Amino acid sequence: MVVTLDMSHPATNPATPLAINRPAAEIPSLVGMDRQDLAEALKSVGVTDKQIKMRTQQIWHWLYVRGVSNIDHMLNVSKALRVSLKEKFTIARPEIVEEQISVDGTRKWLMRFPSRGAGKPVEIETVYIPEEGRGTLCVSSQVGCLLTCTFCHTGTQTLVRNLTSEEVLVQLLVARDKLGDFPAHDTPQGAIQPNSGRFVTNVVMMGMGEPLYNFEEVKKALLIVADPEGLSLSKRRITLSTSGHVPNIARTGEEIGVALAISLHATNDELRDVLVPINKKWPLKELLDACRNYPGVSNSRRITFEYVMLKDINDSLQDARDLVKLLKGIPAKVNLIPFNPWPGTQYECSEWEQIEKFADFINAAGYASPIRTPRGHDILAACGQLKSESERLRKIDREVLERQNRQESIAGDRDQ
Ligand code: SAH
Ligand code: SF4
Repeated sequence: MVVTLDMSHPATNPATPLAINRPAAEIPSLVGMDRQDLAEALKSVGVTDKQIKMRTQQIWHWLYVRGVSNIDHMLNVSKALRVSLKEKFTIARPEIVEEQISVDGTRKWLMRFPSRGAGKPVEIETVYIPEEGRGTLCVSSQVGCLLTCTFCHTGTQTLVRNLTSEEVLVQLLVARDKLGDFPAHDTPQGAIQPNSGRFVTNVVMMGMGEPLYNFEEVKKALLIVADPEGLSLSKRRITLSTSGHVPNIARTGEEIGVALAISLHATNDELRDVLVPINKKWPLKELLDACRNYPGVSNSRRITFEYVMLKDINDSLQDARDLVKLLKGIPAKVNLIPFNPWPGTQYECSEWEQIEKFADFINAAGYASPIRTPRGHDILAACGQLKSESERLRKIDREVLERQNRQESIAGDRDQ
């Protein structure tokens, strides 16, 4: 069953003010700026050098602790400054085209962002997955993807454009608005929600796109997500997933410091060249060396290796044996992902029994190897299904509607 929310209703948490949608004209947003950019923005509206540090701090707090989406809700900022800020900047949320809730509680938001000079406005999806004791937000980094992994639906779309730091970050802000993770904007200072009560406890860069092909913007956004004076998510609870952009793997450890996941999917170059073609540029040996040397990696900070289970392609016990050999010496855990099929794909998901045998083998070799339960299937929110599939269905809806309209108009003509 698919539940499509009527967006005319208030946000989930009645105390959360409704987000003000961004005006059509493109005004730069303060969201996604690092402290230095924010200070520059404040200087540009006349904040003096003497006040700049205090004002930057104040606005940071409103944006990321209070989560306000309206400059007028920044109560301790003078009216004159609010007026000048509003003339040049916005903090409004993006348009939310659709919100869906799965029977299993998974939520998916379709957000629309301005074109930023690249043709039409773009749409991306963000997924929230509630689990026992935690809630994970799956964030997109690009519209489409430059890479062409053969089992991934996003890989069949071309890259439209990179998301900006604002667009990466705002996916978390929207989720927190909708789930009630921010305090109401008029909550007195000191009465704000503690970290422990939050719905979104983890962020994974596993939505659409390859985050390491959009390094600077993703870095800026994730450093704000982890900022202890703002959203303050622990870096251990932020995971960046890459198909294997080797030079930027080291940079991720050094400059961002978040947990790393590698989309491995094959244990030899011949097969990986086909499944994950970036392997031709950076083959397995280079990829695994980058993992071995990942800054901060240890037994308590393991690298996750994602492995999609494709029937008769990479799911034999010999593959499991090769996988264990390959991971030797790397503090690792293995995440087995049952393949999510999509129309036109040449692959099938492995039999459940085979997935379990594979998992048992890896487990017996000393690696945690959970099988990822597919979530949000009814709202097309599972790995590799994002956006492209909803777009296809919306196209079908449109076609059905157009056909109905045509038939009605023919019937109307006949009646006249
Ligand atoms: N581009 C990045 C992150 C986005 S993909 C990457 O490739 O790591 C997130 C995860 O979903 C990756 O591990 C990817 O291999 C996996 N995935 C993609 N399509 C899938 C599908 N159809 N079924 C199961 N997993 C899929
Ligand atoms: Fe891009 Fe990741 Fe899909 Fe490969 S698996 S096409 S890198 S989104």
